Amino acid sequence: MARVCGYELADGTRCQVETEGAHCELHLARLNRSDVSSPALIRQHLQTNQGTVIDLKGFRFRALDFESTLFPPGRDILFDDSTFVNSRFIDVAFEGNVSFANCTFEGTIFENVCSNDSTIGCAKLDFTLAKFLGGEVPFRDCSFYACDEILFVDATFESKEPPFTMCHAKSDLVSFMGASINAERFALHICKPDLHMLMPSSLVLDASHINLARLKCNGHFEYGNLESMIDVSPFVSLIYVDFRQMQTATFRNANLTKVLFLGSPVDNVVFANPRWTGFGTSRRVCVFDDTPDEAFKHGAPLESESSDSSEFVEIDWDDRDRENTRLNQLLELYVSLKKNFEASGNYIDAGDWFYREMECRRRLIAVNRSRIVRWLRQNFFSFPPWYRFVSEYGENYTRPMWGLLATLVLGAVSYFYSGFGTDHTINYDFAWTVTGESFWGLVDAMLYSLGVMSFQVTKTGFQHGTVTATLTLAQVVLTLILVPLFLLALRRKFRR
Ligand SMILES: [Zn+2]
Repeated sequence: MARVCGYELADGTRCQVETEGAHCELHLARLNRSDVSSPALIRQHLQTNQGTVIDLKGFRFRALDFESTLFPPGRDILFDDSTFVNSRFIDVAFEGNVSFANCTFEGTIFENVCSNDSTIGCAKLDFTLAKFLGGEVPFRDCSFYACDEILFVDATFESKEPPFTMCHAKSDLVSFMGASINAERFALHICKPDLHMLMPSSLVLDASHINLARLKCNGHFEYGNLESMIDVSPFVSLIYVDFRQMQTATFRNANLTKVLFLGSPVDNVVFANPRWTGFGTSRRVCVFDDTPDEAFKHGAPLESESSDSSEFVEIDWDDRDRENTRLNQLLELYVSLKKNFEASGNYIDAGDWFYREMECRRRLIAVNRSRIVRWLRQNFFSFPPWYRFVSEYGENYTRPMWGLLATLVLGAVSYFYSGFGTDHTINYDFAWTVTGESFWGLVDAMLYSLGVMSFQVTKTGFQHGTVTATLTLAQVVLTLILVPLFLLALRRKFRR
């Protein structure tokens, strides 16, 4: 007499497939960890059991073709902890959430698989901790739309071929946090919303957040915008990525304004046609300074599952030690960026990074002292704030130029009012008139001022009393400081 299988499914319902034995054939295979190779068993399971989820957890699928399998819409599909050997997902459409968490794929491919943009949609596509083994490209011609999250967190790709080709994903968050990719090439390209471009050997993304923190990749890594879509800039976290392990790392046409490189030195990274729009005009901005980082927040839900990631997720920005650490990381990054741009002959951008480097050094002054002491030291009682004031750390030649001009004019006016008259005689005439002797007296004072600044008449100054002598000395000192700053900044700006 036939009875139902009764195997407990993920949503709490029991398998309703009729069977002669203890369980249906599919669930016997599940219990015995034996291979499932028949699509008919899957079909039977899908048709008979109408619960809220489709439970295909913990199976071993061997040479099973999911081509003819129709997944009923609106139900979450769970493949967690399953193993796929030489299996294929071809022309499959997923609706509802799909989870392949902790699955192992050996020689298994996804081809023309899509998650539809329907009313229910696919909120989450989860490949957390999945392992892709085998020489083939695991994902071809796939398009994943209307997802909140696409997760490849801590996933492993062990194949020579690139993980994606002609694939497109549209999601709020795409995360490869902690993923390890041992392929020849791993490319991500940013595309404008609703323009579904495809590229060989690449995953084209339309996402607002991309998390690539702790990404390990030993092949050629490429991230960038498609040529015509240079303005799109998702929030990208590339913290703690070791670019030196990669054969090459290229950022092409990338808008890097919202990219976090903390803890990831970029000495050997190639920045081809980069955009730093957010602070291109203002070097004063210490990059990533005032952003509490959406990218970190988006990493947060995963912290309970993988404890080693929590370290990077929860950053208390008010914490003094953390700030110290963060400033040191920023400093390291800016030095690295400066070197990078200097090496490629881009001295103007290199100068900007130097400016930010110096800003970090300034902010690191007295970082552990009380708020007031720290503020005073950072803004007045140390060398960097003055260096910044006079010539923006040697990057600005107009400031010392204006300084020299001001020294010249103020010197002349001061000589004039200190009683310095025509023929270098002292007439003690403090009246301001632009006619007659007083006017020529001012002109003469101007010439005298110029004479002092070109070290021609310094000695004469000392013969005209204490006030003029002091003015002369001050002018000489200022000139001695400003001229080298002017020349250095000029040289720095226009060196070849
Ligand atoms: Zn069953």
